[in-house]
Amino acid sequence: MTDLDISRAWLVDPATGREGPGDVVVRDGRLEAVTWLEAADAEGIDERGVVVAPGFIDLHAHFREPGNEDAETIASGLAAAAHGGFTTVCLMPNTTPALDDPAVLARVRGAAEASGSPVRTLAYGAVTAGRAGETLAALGELADAGVAGFSDDGAPVGSAALLRSALAYAGGVGLAVVDHAEDAAQTAGAEANDGFVATVLGLRGWPAAAEEAAVARDLAILAEVVRDVPAARLHLTHLSTAGSLDLVRRAKAAGLPVTCDVTPHHLALTDEWLAGARRWAWEATSDPWGDGAITAAPFDPSLRVNPPLRALSDAAACREALLDGTADAVATDHAPHTQVDKEVEFGLAANGISGIETALGVLLAAVDAGLVPLLRAIELLTTGPAGVLGRRFVDRSVGLVEGAAADLVVFDRSEAWTVSDETLVSRGTNTPLLGRSLPGRVLATIADGRVAWSTD
Ligand SMILES: [Zn+2]
Repeated sequence: MTDLDISRAWLVDPATGREGPGDVVVRDGRLEAVTWLEAADAEGIDERGVVVAPGFIDLHAHFREPGNEDAETIASGLAAAAHGGFTTVCLMPNTTPALDDPAVLARVRGAAEASGSPVRTLAYGAVTAGRAGETLAALGELADAGVAGFSDDGAPVGSAALLRSALAYAGGVGLAVVDHAEDAAQTAGAEANDGFVATVLGLRGWPAAAEEAAVARDLAILAEVVRDVPAARLHLTHLSTAGSLDLVRRAKAAGLPVTCDVTPHHLALTDEWLAGARRWAWEATSDPWGDGAITAAPFDPSLRVNPPLRALSDAAACREALLDGTADAVATDHAPHTQVDKEVEFGLAANGISGIETALGVLLAAVDAGLVPLLRAIELLTTGPAGVLGRRFVDRSVGLVEGAAADLVVFDRSEAWTVSDETLVSRGTNTPLLGRSLPGRVLATIADGRVAWSTD
């Protein structure tokens, strides 16, 4: 168990909405003292230095075990999570075999246990058997075994009838359906966000409407299901378009039990990266070629992701949704791949970005640019996702609570680090941020009173 003394840091406690200078003492794995400093004691401490916050919760990660351990194992994924400041991860069930059976959940838990990592591992069960989209998986058995919700992520629940049943059954056992909103009929063969960049590059367009039509369908079904099953809940993951977020905004205003998350890459990167631009979304204007913004080769396969990197206006809409509460959380959609699956022609590359280690740095870049307050950024990684999961899965207090088992991340905003094959812990180095310097090096991650990551 851990002892740790952090003095004169910037404490962020999203549970109480408080942030400011303070000291933290961890003894024997317990958070023994949280002291807020005032007046002269607080002098010289600001939010741009060492920050202490509750450990992060990722609602959406792909560790590739069982089935594709070359890309990631539970152990390597948990180590990467800790390096990213995460103390709880929710794993998607698109493994091989799919997590559609309690035996696969037991295997995942066994691997997490064997890894020795104190990072908490939660997992979703599949909505349909084998994620094949034909019949419902054994949702009741999976719920009894302790899955955190249901998802066919990687693919949408294509059948409206199955989604309707899944929302009702899942609601009956107090769990959400987590949908990857995509109308597959509109995305067959699609390669890049349908727009100016795709047209110039000659890539087949992936329309925003493919996501928005699916979101609209899901919300319409949810609205009907909640009449009979008031506990039904829908979580829409990795929303990427202004239209999708607006649909959720209106559904929330109408009282529908829907939540959603946005990824760091849809917030900070846009489709112009496919052309070879490398500026953050908030630095971009309209035409990467006209602006002389091209600094890298086009068609980098590490940028191929589902949903695709979108237009500037969509990234701005993601930012707006994070600020106004339309989005409940930032989730990484950490999707490690082997070089064999990724270093091929753009349109043939596997979808996904290895992102659990860079999520904090990308968010802090937005904080540094004055676009998101630090407290809100931390909420989106802690109390936000905790609220989506509910007390059943996050039984600890997500906050700086004296007496509780220490569950913390300590990072230094003044210290940058470079994303590289050497610094990344994940087996997947498929990220367009390779070579980039990110703010906010994680100094320590303490999960459940034990050191999960430390630079010492
Ligand atoms: Zn997905």
